[in-house]
Amino acid sequence: MRTQALGAGLVAQSQFAMAPFRLHRPTTIADALAIMSEHPNAVIAAGCTDLVARIREGCAPQALVSLQKIDELRAISHEAGVLHIGPMATHYVGSTDAIVGNAIPSLAAAWASIATVRIRYTATVGGNLMARRYRYEMPLVLGALGAELIIDAGATSRPVASLWAHNASTQRGLLTDITVRTDDLVWFGYERSMRPTATVALAVRRNPDGTLQVRAQSGSEYRHGFALTAETGVTELDPLELSARLARQLPDDCADYTGSAEYRRHLVRVLTRRLLTAACAQLKGAGTR
Ligand SMILES: Cc1cc2nc3c(=O)[nH]c(=O)nc-3n(C[C@H](O)[C@H](O)[C@H](O)COP(=O)(O)OP(=O)(O)OC[C@H]3O[C@@H](n4cnc5c(N)ncnc54)[C@H](O)[C@@H]3O)c2cc1C
Repeated sequence: MRTQALGAGLVAQSQFAMAPFRLHRPTTIADALAIMSEHPNAVIAAGCTDLVARIREGCAPQALVSLQKIDELRAISHEAGVLHIGPMATHYVGSTDAIVGNAIPSLAAAWASIATVRIRYTATVGGNLMARRYRYEMPLVLGALGAELIIDAGATSRPVASLWAHNASTQRGLLTDITVRTDDLVWFGYERSMRPTATVALAVRRNPDGTLQVRAQSGSEYRHGFALTAETGVTELDPLELSARLARQLPDDCADYTGSAEYRRHLVRVLTRRLLTAACAQLKGAGTR
């Protein structure tokens, strides 16, 4: 129960009235940035599937900057070995986009596996990342792919893992692009069969000397993602050895009330081994990602 905005007393949380707010609807990134600089406390609104929950949790925006009319934020392109994904790409559009599907088919497949149909048509990748909720999956998927977040049209850029930095919730800015290097990427996969307890996204890249490096992100609904990395020093993968090496990197504070650190390391080792075995089979076969 909470107080109704117009002073009508206590009402059920699902029925409370919002205090009035100013809605800005810019049509360009430049206009959005100008509005945000004029109204530093303005809240960005993309698909609003998370924002609605945030407002129920107590967020009371005085100004909203809707990104819906900014077409540039929906652009997807693949140039010079870099995939660019506009943050306003919805889960549906991104996962069915031909450019994404050609550049990294397994990213499209992973993206297609998240959320429900109604949400997928509205929810955006930018909102999934910037909501900074442990249970959301795109930080894991794009974190394993080493994606960079381009903020304020290039004023700053930072890795997806920075979303979990201690000061992340105070970092502000408009996410204007998400970039993923594809030139050295040889394999990517995502395992969510043990969700919500444990999920793993894993990418294999080739170093200039031909050796392979593995970058994984392990997540759970209740703890932030953990980065697990391994330089193999060789040109072929050993799933047994590598999965054990990656799982050992999980710190003790990966534990939560649903599982001890030991249990979580076990799950991550199993999921990682499964992904690496699939990577091995594909690399030995067609030699493509
Ligand atoms: C029923 C349901 C099921 C779901 N299932 C899943 C699931 O299985 N897996 C999963 O990963 N997620 C799931 N979600 C979460 C969903 O994917 C997110 O709510 C969604 O991606 C958020 O995107 P949005 O466009 O609605 O963001 P909004 O709600 O508009 O915004 C979310 C936050 O991001 C900020 N923001 C948005 N865009 C930008 C930007 N460009 N720059 C800076 N800040 C920005 C906003 O200010 C806000 O704080 C589910 C949600 C629902 C309601």
